[in-house]
Amino acid sequence: MGLVQINAEQPEAHGGDRAWQDLANCLGVDPDLFFPERGASTREAKEVCRACVVREECLEYAIVNGEKFGIWGGMSERERRRVRRARGLTRVREPRTAVADSPGA
Ligand code: SF4
Repeated sequence: MGLVQINAEQPEAHGGDRAWQDLANCLGVDPDLFFPERGASTREAKEVCRACVVREECLEYAIVNGEKFGIWGGMSERERRRVRRARGLTRVREPRTAVADSPGA
């Protein structure tokens, strides 16, 4: 998951509101599992997440921070995007009007 990368890039990641990362079930797990190639299975990563005691914290972190890549809190990018949209955290495209959609408009 992203923890390995976050901690490598931001050593201060431990502590504060990221203390939950110390309890991550994915610590020591191959990070590639959590950043699969497009179209590759996310099943194994999600199984690791399913048994994780900080799954909610992880998911919330990813949603609030708009993490675009990888499996976080047991959810893929697409699944998190749906949650962000439902919470109004992303801009929704303006709906097309009937006039604009009509032929010859
Ligand atoms: S929910 Fe998954 S990605 Fe998040 S810390 Fe737990 S095992 Fe890692």
